[in-house]
Amino acid sequence: MIDETHDAKRQSWVASANGHPEFPLQNLPLGVFSPPGRSVPNAQPRGGIAIGDMILDLRLALELGCFEGAAATAAEAASGHTLNDFIALGSGARRALRQQACALLSSDGESKAKPLADKLLHRASDCWLHVPTKIENFTDFFAGINHATNGGRRRDPANPLTPNYKYVPVAYHSRASSVRESHATVQRPQGQRKLPDEAAPTFGPCRKLDYELELAVWVGPGNRQGTPIPIERAADHIVGLGLVNDWSARDIQQWESAPLGPFLGKSFGSTVSPWIITIEALAPFRVAQPERPAGDPKPLPHLWNDADQQSGAFDIALEALILTRQMRERNLPPHRVSRSNTTDLYWTLAQLVAHHTSNGCNLVAGDLFGSGTISGPTEAGWGSLSEQSLDGTRSFTLSSGETRTFLEDGDEVIFRAHGRREGYATIGFGECRARVRG
Ligand code: MN
Repeated sequence: MIDETHDAKRQSWVASANGHPEFPLQNLPLGVFSPPGRSVPNAQPRGGIAIGDMILDLRLALELGCFEGAAATAAEAASGHTLNDFIALGSGARRALRQQACALLSSDGESKAKPLADKLLHRASDCWLHVPTKIENFTDFFAGINHATNGGRRRDPANPLTPNYKYVPVAYHSRASSVRESHATVQRPQGQRKLPDEAAPTFGPCRKLDYELELAVWVGPGNRQGTPIPIERAADHIVGLGLVNDWSARDIQQWESAPLGPFLGKSFGSTVSPWIITIEALAPFRVAQPERPAGDPKPLPHLWNDADQQSGAFDIALEALILTRQMRERNLPPHRVSRSNTTDLYWTLAQLVAHHTSNGCNLVAGDLFGSGTISGPTEAGWGSLSEQSLDGTRSFTLSSGETRTFLEDGDEVIFRAHGRREGYATIGFGECRARVRG
């Protein structure tokens, strides 16, 4: 699992990569970008690898003979406007591409890419980054137990979790068509809402617009319908991770959700970060799944695997920040609302895959899972504003002196994530970032 591509001492001839807080040589995440039109004859979206402040153009690298064998097959599959074909190839092709991309971008030895750097590298800040796959299906889980508990406490303080929570990785089918890339603005939705103290519902702009800090799980190759993925093999269907903001209209959601769950309170939009941080890049940050508290049931056998329990969780630090219009005008940095960690998930990602397919449902290459909101155990880690504001009943103060309960028009929500471990290069996910438009 850990190999020479993780060696913290390795440097890149791409100078900005060395010590880069997000994309050093050891990361090599994949995404889809449009290069700046002037520098490339055909500026269609294509796959790329982030390296420092630059993006390696996989289509041009392939055309100029930088890849061979399985890595060339993988680069070809990643050269189009989505990464679905690349994901469908599976883990062997992905690993081959990582190995050769690492060699091409490393300063050890000869690199076929270095003399072609002017052609192959684009400045990332000049490019537009797209949603990396054509998402056919988006499933949003509820695996952040602190968030589930905080939400449930408002309904029933004595029994915040529903009886199924510790047996079933709870989820709902969310909307794939409205998942957008970072920096695409999010329109405040209109909808039908009725607050508990109102006699009748009304229709109008959402009054409780919220975000949810979630891990994005990119899935593939997937399974045939009727053939579940057993827990032992579930990890092979996780391509990599990112960040997703599951924007939530709480007033619409609270009125519509009984008895079938979230619908228009969620489907107006979701934002994903552009880079797929591959499961190979994340190997140094694997940890044991935290032991369940005494008295919690052991998962049923189809969701239990010793190896998965030993190394199927990840230690990834998460942050949620807000940048208001006033902060932008006054040149202030964003306000950090919360910090949490992916170890706050009650289920491993392999358990989500095994559960999702246990009835025979087929997952498709390029599908997206949201983990559920990842909140830490205390207020400083609460990953949504419904938690921070106790469903709008108390306001909190930002570093600019402004106050908030829920999001206002012009607010920008920024998520960040980093893997850090002694002896290894720190890697980042790149931001998941979007602004609310009224
Ligand atoms: Mn969610």
